Formats: sequence, structure tokens, C-alpha cells
Amino acid sequence: TKYVYDFAEGSKELKDLLGGKGGNLAEMANLGLPVPPGFTVTTDACRAYLRGGDEPFGLADEIGLHLERLERQAGRRLGDPDDPLLVSVRSGAKFSMPGMMETILNVGLSDATVAGLATQTGGDERFAWDSYRRLIQMFGRTVCGVPGEAFERALDDAKRAAGTTDDLGLDAAALRGLVTRYREIFREHTGHDFPQDAREQLDRSIRAVFDSWNGERAVLYRRQEHIPADLGTAVNIVAMVFGNLGPDSGTGVAFTRDPATGATGVYGDYLANAQGEDVVAGIRNTVPLQQLAAVDKHAYDELMVIMAKLEAHYRDLCDIEFTIERGKLWMLQTRVGKRTAAAAFVIATQLVDEGVIDLDEALHRVTGAQLAQLMFPAFDLSRAPERLARGVAASPGAAVGAVVFDAKRAAALAARGERVILVRRETNPDDLPGMIAAQGILTSRGGKTSHAAVVARGMGKTCVCGADRIDVHDGHFTADGRTVAEGDIVSIDGSAGTVYLGAVPVQESPVVRYFEGTLSPGADPLVAAVDRILTHADKVRRLGVRANADTADDAARARRFGAQGIGLCRTEHMFLGERRPLVERLILAGTDDERDKALADLLPLQRADFERLFEAMNGLPVTVRLIDPPLHEFLPPLDELAVRVALEESRGEPDGHDQALLDAVHRMHEENPMLGLRGVRLGLVVPGLFAMQIRAVAEATLACRERGVTVRPEIMVPLVGAVQELEAVREEAQQLLGALGVQARVGTMIEVPRAALTAGEIARAADFFSFGTNDLTQMGWGFSRDDVEGAFFTRYLELGIFGVSPFESIDRDGVGRLVRIAVDEGRRTRPDLHIGVCGEHGGDPASIHFFHDAGLDYVSCSPFRVPVARLEAGRCAV
Ligand code: ADP
Ligand code: MG
Ligand code: MG
Repeated sequence: TKYVYDFAEGSKELKDLLGGKGGNLAEMANLGLPVPPGFTVTTDACRAYLRGGDEPFGLADEIGLHLERLERQAGRRLGDPDDPLLVSVRSGAKFSMPGMMETILNVGLSDATVAGLATQTGGDERFAWDSYRRLIQMFGRTVCGVPGEAFERALDDAKRAAGTTDDLGLDAAALRGLVTRYREIFREHTGHDFPQDAREQLDRSIRAVFDSWNGERAVLYRRQEHIPADLGTAVNIVAMVFGNLGPDSGTGVAFTRDPATGATGVYGDYLANAQGEDVVAGIRNTVPLQQLAAVDKHAYDELMVIMAKLEAHYRDLCDIEFTIERGKLWMLQTRVGKRTAAAAFVIATQLVDEGVIDLDEALHRVTGAQLAQLMFPAFDLSRAPERLARGVAASPGAAVGAVVFDAKRAAALAARGERVILVRRETNPDDLPGMIAAQGILTSRGGKTSHAAVVARGMGKTCVCGADRIDVHDGHFTADGRTVAEGDIVSIDGSAGTVYLGAVPVQESPVVRYFEGTLSPGADPLVAAVDRILTHADKVRRLGVRANADTADDAARARRFGAQGIGLCRTEHMFLGERRPLVERLILAGTDDERDKALADLLPLQRADFERLFEAMNGLPVTVRLIDPPLHEFLPPLDELAVRVALEESRGEPDGHDQALLDAVHRMHEENPMLGLRGVRLGLVVPGLFAMQIRAVAEATLACRERGVTVRPEIMVPLVGAVQELEAVREEAQQLLGALGVQARVGTMIEVPRAALTAGEIARAADFFSFGTNDLTQMGWGFSRDDVEGAFFTRYLELGIFGVSPFESIDRDGVGRLVRIAVDEGRRTRPDLHIGVCGEHGGDPASIHFFHDAGLDYVSCSPFRVPVARLEAGRCAV
């Protein structure tokens, strides 16, 4: 196997092998952009190394060959005391994992080469010693696990001794002393000397980068982002260039458009006389990129040309890292940049208008998850909340919570169900668990490209950063003379960059107001973009989108959101509230007469419910599912009843009704209600129950029809496992419907594995199928959702048994196979069989793609997910 690629041999298409960073460095090099020479060790090598715990055979030699070539290109040799080549050793996986893995800079420095570096840079000894101490620090920490604080403390001591508070206040002699101290620290912690051999430094750095794939932060981030655990990282070896060689040097990061709003125009941060890591860490405050034009017009202009070239080449927003070494511009990284959900929609339509992409492609550039995010509410500022501070609008959203200053504590509080805002001076990768757990993140330093901002945007979490008027201390922060202590409530607006004291009420998003019809698309560029892309999705999609709705209000909203019908109306909701006594009477009925009477009393109530629902869905199909849960679920809980009865008896006033209820609860108790007397079984055991519901549907249809409302009722039988069950209900339904002169389709849920496996037979008695993927998942896996998610799912996710919970996203291989079998065999019996899904998976983007591929006709999901499903259904089709 070939384990090493020169930049000249790579391309962005080889991301799997070279990682995003490596592939894009190669791409830029091959576009003729100024990239320092280098090569990439493949993810193949990483995987082989992680499997075997040892370097794969031949890797060392191959690296040697490419290193020689790099040395020729750079005109310098690694470890050469007179004119040493220095390199960076950089992680870079297929998917960007900002700051999650390691990078080591200045590899190749040693006691022997440090003087050579000074000569090389025109006698800058201060710089050479500073670079050396940075190497020992980074190498010590990442390769040898020396605690970073040990170095930080030594650095602070040196600064104190020199009477300065700034790194730049340390002169060459002080830094040289610091190197001596660092080497002692290194020896104390590792038991051996800092390696002086450059090649040894290189090889060990490469291995450390491989190992960082399985570092705690990286593992956590991958789980959060659903990145597979077995991809491995590539390692990029890049000749060093220096942004810290004086005022005519510097480093920066930039985006070709604003990644927060999508606004056109270059956006970036620049820091003079600094190395790249200083910018990302948010250690010093950067200046807007535009100011570079004043400092170095030539480099600025070149950068603008390069950024335009990159956008044209990638046909999308790009982000870049660059460094200027004494006036010479170097490109160190690019990729198609992360962006907020709003920016994704705005940029996609901009690119259509610019003629760069078409609408089909625009659909690919946005996701249902992003649309869902845009439907989050925002703050209602009409009551003028007290503004504490303003910072950078780093990641949109409205978050309210109690202030917490420590990531671990934030995670612990959130685990107890509290809403917290993580407040930090700046974040680093160790804060990740707290960032995940918090409602939002607030920092006092750093800009849109700081760690906090990048990570928050990736997670879709609200973030305000660089709120520099706030001062973060231990246990409190101050802003404008006010002190905010841990536990105080603040509200942060990541779309505006504002911080408020107290809990600010939230209001609907403009996108939701547009769906509700109270905001016209012309009123807001984001809404216009959403409207345009969603309209296109509707035009191209094959899948229909219906909603799960039980009430007329929900149905009406679903319709405004674009639902083409109701795919699931759960009738059990119609048995709750003040109707409970009626249900109790039904259950306690001792004779057929009593039972029929109870059902007859329920009939008009149910009919009225259906009438309202049908009216709201005038002209569209409505699937009514007959009652599904076990009847005892409508009775009071056992312990509550038992206490009541005991109390009544002790008072000497026994209540016959309560006693009867208690007896019924005992009688009907099931060890495993999920697998008990429910669904069609209930309908076949309790005479008249389903008949009452079917009659209510039919009579409501007739009543609506009289008022000119078009009703398309569909009657759906739950929990069928055998065609005979369905046939029995169907016969009864057809008699009833026929007698009343109402036409309705009769179909079944497919939610028991046996139903899927005998779908060919079941289709004989069904006009339609609707997959109940919640039950199908529970019964397919044999675990109950209510019991297992807390119990062992985390462990299963860790072990990679699932990449994601099968309740969140359909298990394609297992449960999905049941779906495919049912679709194929059902349609073989009945080619016109109409097939949909009404489990929660119907609103999950990944599952929607599966249902599209499996040939379903529609998905049905909660009203709020309807726009998401429309968008994803469109994305499946292009
Ligand atoms: P990350 O993926 O965390 O951004 P990078 O590999 O990009 O890590 O490197 C960290 C920082 O070091 C970046 O700011 C980058 O620009 C800088 N850097 C990496 N390689 C070099 C190099 N060869 N010369 C100068 N700076 C570099
Ligand atoms: Mg980088
Ligand atoms: Mg079910």
C-alpha cells in the first residue's frame, strides 16, 4: 500500500485517504496557490497503526523518501544545524473536527539547530528560542503527556522575573533560560531528555497525531456529530512558515462570505506578528481582516484574488488559514466552510443568482436539520430587557439559563435537568462536555473564528463570544459595574450577539411566521431563501408529506406548514379528560347492555372530534387509527387507587365505584402491556368498540359532506400481525360503511414483525400500509423504548453497536429490511397499495432518505417537522 502522498499527488477528491486538510492542501498546491511544500500520511496508515499498535511495515521508509523530496523543494534539510528545515505535523480527518486532534509546530528544532534557525531568519535569536520553547511545550504535552500547566507556570515565572506580563516582553536570553527550564520539566515528567534527533521528533509526532484520533475529546466530538469511529486521521507534514517574524508578518483566518448571515463580502480576523494557533485560541484580540489592507496592501490584494479563486473552484463558501512571513503570503488551509443554518439558505440562493449552481444543487446545500434550527424561537425584546453586554453573534439562537463557569459543573447540572449557560473567558477543547450540555455559550474573548464559535456553530448551539465588556472571574463575572454570580439567570442572543440579565421571553422565528402565513417571503432575505428552496423541493419530490395530528388545531397548523393530509390521527387522545368516566363505564360494564350504552355515549363525542378534524383538512386524506393502547391505561394508576380505597375503608365509607375500578385494574394488569391486549386484539375482544369508532368516522363524513366539506377518510387498524385479524375488522367496517353509504379506505399499520413478513397476505385485506416504526423498532430489536434508552444505549453507542439510537434514525439493516420486505411483498399482491410511515422516523432526515429509497409513497410526521420532511423529500429526489 502507498501510505504517503506528496501534495502534488493529492486532490480534494481523495479526502477519505488524505483527510480534508490534506486533500485541500493538495488541491490548493495544484491550483498553483502558494502552499508551503509538504506531504500527507494517509488515513490507511493511521488505521493500520491503530489496529496493530505499531507502525505499518514500510511507512518509515516511505516517509523518508517523501521527506527527501520535501527537503529538495524547500532547499533545506531536517536537522541541518546551519539551515534547518522545520515542519508542522498536523492532524486532518475526512470530516473537520476543529481543535479535537493534535498539531505540533516547529518540529526539527534542537540545541543544534536553534542557532541555524536564528541565522536563517536574519539573526533573530529571540524568535529562534521562542520557537524552540514552543516545540518543547507542544511536543511535551501532546506526544509525552506532560501537563500543560507545568509549562504555563514556568512561562509565568519567566515573565515575572523579566518584569513583563506579555510573551513579547521576554528577550532572547530569557527565552533561552526558559528552554532550559522546559527541558528540565520535560525530563521530570518523562524520565528522559527532550529528543534532539529531528527525525525521531517527526516520527513520534506522527504517532501522537494518530493516537489523538482516539483522544477523549475527539471521541466525544465524533459521537456528538455522528462521525464514524473507524475512519482515522491523516497526518500532514508541512514546511513551517512564520507569522511571528515581526510586524511585517502575521496570520489570519478568513471566510469568503460571512458564515453567520451569508452576507457577501470577505470576512476574517488578522493578528500581526503571531503564529496561527494564537488566532484560533483567541489569546490575543484580532483585528478585522480589512485592516490588513492598510498594513500590507500587496499581501491583502493577493489574498483577495486567491479567495475569489477558491470560491470559484469550490463553488461554495470557503474558509482559509493563511500566514504572512515578511510580506510573503502562504496558504495553510482551506475547506468548504461551516456556516449557520441561516447562512446556508442565503448562500445557496445567492449562488443560484450568481449562476454558480442551479436550484437542484441548492437543495443539496441545505439540510432538514438546518431548517429545523431556523424554526427555533427568538427573544421577544418588546419589554426592553436589561442588556448586560454585547459581543460577537457567533452562533444563532436564543438561550436562557443559569450562569456556570466550569465545564464539568455545567455538564453535571445539565444532567440534573437544569438549563445552564457556560461562561468562559475563552473555551478550549476540554470544555466540550460543558458546551454540549449547556443551552448556550458566552465568552469574553475571541471572534467568530474562536474555538467557542466554531464548535458552537457546528453543534447548532447558541453562542455569543468576545463580549469584552464582561470580566470573568472565579465564580462570577462583572459587566458594566454589575456582578453576575454563578446560578444567576442570563439570556443570550446568538443571532444579535447580546447578553441580557434575567430570563427574556422568547417568540416565534420569522421562518415559522412565514409558514404560519403572517410574514411574507419578501420581508426578510432568509425567509425568501427558505421559500424559494422549499418551493423547489415541493416541485421535485416524489414522497408525499402528511402530518400526525389528533386535534383540529394541530391539523390546521400542519396544513399551513404544507402537510398534504393526516397520516396518523390517534383516537386514544379522544378518550381522555372529562371523557374518562365514560371509558370507565365501558370497562366496568357488567352486561352487553351497559357496554353498548357506554359506547353509545362516546359516539357523539368522537363524531364531533372527527368533524372538526375533517373540516380542517377539507379535501385532503385523513387516516384515523382505531384505538391502540390497552384499556387499563385509561384507568387511574394502581397505587393511587389502592390508597384511595384503603382510605375510604378506614374512614368507614367504602365507595363501590372505586372498589370496582381497583378490581378492574387488578384484573386487567399486564406484566408487559406493550405486548398485551391492545390494538386490533382489543378491537376483536371488546365488542362494539371499533364499530363505534368506525361509525363515528362515517357519520362525521356524512355530516361534513352536507356542509360541502370534502372528506377522504382512511381507517387504519393498529398492531395487526395476521391477515385474519385485519379481515375480521375490515368486514365489519365495510358493512357499517356500506350501510351508511360512505366510502373509506381500510388499511393497516405494519408494526409487528410478523406483519412485515406476511405483508403479501395482509395486502389482500388492506388498501394501504402505514409503517409504525416505533413499535417495529421495539419489537424488531426486542426492547422497549421507555426502558432502555437510559439503561444501556450510551454503552451501545460507545461500543459502536449503533451509530445513532434506532429510535432516532431507522435501523436500515434490520428494521429497514422488514420495511423493504413488506413493501415488496405488499406491492406484489397489490401493485396499487398505498404505503407510508407514521412513526417518529417520518420526520428524521436520514430515515426519510431511506423511505424514499424503499419506495414509500409518503411520510407522516409531527406538524412542526412537516417543512423539514418536505425539504428532505426534495433532497432525496435530486
Ligand atoms: P487545526 O486543524 O486545529 O486548525 P492546524 O493543523 O490547522 O490545526 O494547525 C494549527 C495552527 O498552526 C493553525 O493556525 C495553522 O495555520 C498553524 N500551522 C500549521 N502548520 C503550519 C506551518 N507549516 N507553518 C505555519 N503555521 C502552521
Ligand atoms: Mg487549522
Ligand atoms: Mg404502534
